[in-house]
Amino acid sequence: MPEGNEIHRWAERHAGAFAGTAVRVDGPQGRFVDSDVLDGRKLLRVMAVGKHLGYDFGKDRILHVHLGLQGDFKEGSGPLPPVRGALRLRMWSAAKVKLPAVPGESERHSWYSSDDGTGHLQPEQVAWVELRGPADCTVWTNAKWDALRERLGPDPLDGDAPEKAFERIAKSKKAIGQLLMEQEVIAGIGNIYRAELLFRARQSPFTPGREVSLAVLKKIWKDAAPLMRAGMVDRRIVTTLRKDRPSKSAKAEVGEEHYVYRRNGQPCFVCGTTVKKMEGFAGRNLFWCPVCQAE
Ligand SMILES: [Zn+2]
Repeated sequence: MPEGNEIHRWAERHAGAFAGTAVRVDGPQGRFVDSDVLDGRKLLRVMAVGKHLGYDFGKDRILHVHLGLQGDFKEGSGPLPPVRGALRLRMWSAAKVKLPAVPGESERHSWYSSDDGTGHLQPEQVAWVELRGPADCTVWTNAKWDALRERLGPDPLDGDAPEKAFERIAKSKKAIGQLLMEQEVIAGIGNIYRAELLFRARQSPFTPGREVSLAVLKKIWKDAAPLMRAGMVDRRIVTTLRKDRPSKSAKAEVGEEHYVYRRNGQPCFVCGTTVKKMEGFAGRNLFWCPVCQAE
């Protein structure tokens, strides 16, 4: 599942491609029935909070997209490609699809691969976007978007103040490794960042929220925004420091991008202890070093 870094990056790209212009919208699969109320309207801006995207078309019409586990965008230049597969929604610029395609069109994005589907195109060259398999793709009112914003915890990528998150954690008996995954506590953190932020803070995932010190929470928060922002630019999430990588190279080599995420059974880069994995912790596999992150 994409984490907040990827959602914010899609928002930036789609705003760069379409904001300020009239956008054509349709739903070829027949499951997006509200395309008529958006088609041909000017897209004012694209918002991102946590794992949610909001395309603001004005007049109380916000297209809400949540990618969920399967959702994925594909984009390209030039004419619209033929409709293929379970295509929930298409967005395109009527003017730009009349131009020839830029060579090197992107492949379909598969989550957490080196190819994120954005090819070589600059956002302003993107003529069309396809959306497949989202958990939600519906038209919302401004009030519904505001209620979502209210319900979600602060988003490190949105410049929010963290106090609301700290208060919720300080009151909770739930493990910190669970709380970090709850979007009502902090918005935008997913399974990779949960594992890596806890490791970098040398914090056990099993400590109840109310027993985690404020200093550690502040460290995690301060670490989250630059780490997630780096993931927006590089297209891959790298959380290891150069000094901790076996290669000591400036650019992380394959297999040294993370301290613990999906490194179970391998030695910890810092202490050499075997990294552990627990299945289904807050619904997802948890990875940690039992020594660096001792309880
Ligand atoms: Zn360790």
